[in-house]
Amino acid sequence: MAAARPVSGERVPLWSAVGRVLAEDVHAAGDWPPFDYSAMDGYALRAADVTGAGPWELPVSAHQRTGQESAPLEPGTAARIFTGAALPKGADCVVMQEVVEREGDRVRLASAPRAGDNVRRRGEDLEAGALALRRGTRLSPYDLGLLASLDRVEVLVARRPQVTLLCTGDELRPPGGGPPHTIADSNGVAVSALAAQAGGIPRRAPLTRDEIAPTRDAIAEAAGTTDLLITIGGVSVGEHDVVRPALEELGATVDFWKVRMKPGKPLLLARLGDTTVLGLPGNPASALVTFTLFGLPLLRHMQGDRRSLPPLRRAELTAPLRQKTGRRGFYRAALDGDRVTPLSNQASGAVTAMAWANCLVVVPEDVSELSAGSLVEVLSFADC
Ligand code: AMP
Ligand code: MG
Repeated sequence: MAAARPVSGERVPLWSAVGRVLAEDVHAAGDWPPFDYSAMDGYALRAADVTGAGPWELPVSAHQRTGQESAPLEPGTAARIFTGAALPKGADCVVMQEVVEREGDRVRLASAPRAGDNVRRRGEDLEAGALALRRGTRLSPYDLGLLASLDRVEVLVARRPQVTLLCTGDELRPPGGGPPHTIADSNGVAVSALAAQAGGIPRRAPLTRDEIAPTRDAIAEAAGTTDLLITIGGVSVGEHDVVRPALEELGATVDFWKVRMKPGKPLLLARLGDTTVLGLPGNPASALVTFTLFGLPLLRHMQGDRRSLPPLRRAELTAPLRQKTGRRGFYRAALDGDRVTPLSNQASGAVTAMAWANCLVVVPEDVSELSAGSLVEVLSFADC
């Protein structure tokens, strides 16, 4: 990922921080819990006051509500207390109200409590100064709950990368209908949504013809204002595939072009100034498979995400798979529990496969045949 330039940070309120990547280590400013408190509705007392043979009776000397400072407990007495209320000084346990009998201003206990029962101690969950969340964490709703408990109002997160989408092809037009032999730009819509899913702010450049000059100008214009430029189409070897020549005219550094994978062989990664350029092949399955495998992790990596690569699962093939060796295969498939079924149309031009699939089956480049029942590696879209 040498080509990915990390983005800077910005402070955002907790309310809009879900899914963003933490750009700071967060340490607890104070102890959590911040004070000793009762974990139950019941009676706070000192375990040592309950000695000898039971049952025991104690006078109720105080009424301790939540949100209020507690007075010290008079020795030999109990304080009525509620869940979340500060434990009175001198008390060391709470007896649940379900196991005591209350008679007037006295309580009767059938069994002896132990010190510490039903008490949550100051700092027992997290001590002041302890690490709560690490830089590089993609913030979940649960993480936000923790940050709020620590009285954080804002967090430092990676800025959302600016992503520009540049679709090339004489045959392309926006969805909605057009002249014969033209097709809707479907990749632009899908890749834009994927980029947003990985934290990017997508923007669409106008559709560009298969000519060097307009392609070069469109790339140059986008490059100045964007962290990641994604071109789609025109990156293969035909004489109308002008993305790579256009990048070369602009003096871009090409990190790689062509990957031994199927679909998606002509994938390209380059750098132009501060902009990373990802050149996706135009076939719908190729564009979406390569963006899922390379683009999503690249965007997450730019934000400092410690888990930028999705995990692979294992599943059992329900049908045989055959391939020519030499390129790693990524088969569009339906994963159901731990069984996976490749879809019937694996053509790279198919527009149904990615929509009807929920995962990719990964077949190593040196494997030519897998029988039904084989264990295979699977990349679930839900993990991406
Ligand atoms: P290319 O990579 O430009 O050679 O295009 C390969 C195939 O993908 C052709 O059939 C194109 O019409 C198709 N294609 C290219 N770009 C798109 C796009 N943005 N949306 C849908 N199909 C596309
Ligand atoms: Mg094309």
